[in-house]
Amino acid sequence: MHELGIAFHVMDTVEDVAKENDLTQVSSVTLELGEVSGVVFDYLADVWDWAAEKRELFYGSKLLLETIPAVTICLDCNRTYPTVRYGRTCPYCNGDKTELVTGNEINIKEIEAC
Ligand SMILES: [Zn+2]
Repeated sequence: MHELGIAFHVMDTVEDVAKENDLTQVSSVTLELGEVSGVVFDYLADVWDWAAEKRELFYGSKLLLETIPAVTICLDCNRTYPTVRYGRTCPYCNGDKTELVTGNEINIKEIEAC
């Protein structure tokens, strides 16, 4: 239940922000989700709808998504390339000393209040 944990974590964070800003109702939350974060967005959205019913602040709120493309850097030739297309092997020099630069993040980008 990875997605359920994420939904709760995001809601906890948004609740803190809402408290600080005197918001009583949230209409949508926009998440930035890395391409290789392993989160299934459709499932996360379902879990969100379910959890939103149980928290006053989130009644009827929508979860929106923006995808952050996954980029990997090659430590041999220092070039970056799209992770999803080439995986762990550098397409330029065939090196396998590579590191993920972006694509693993889960960020709250925007909170919309009613
Ligand atoms: Zn390389």
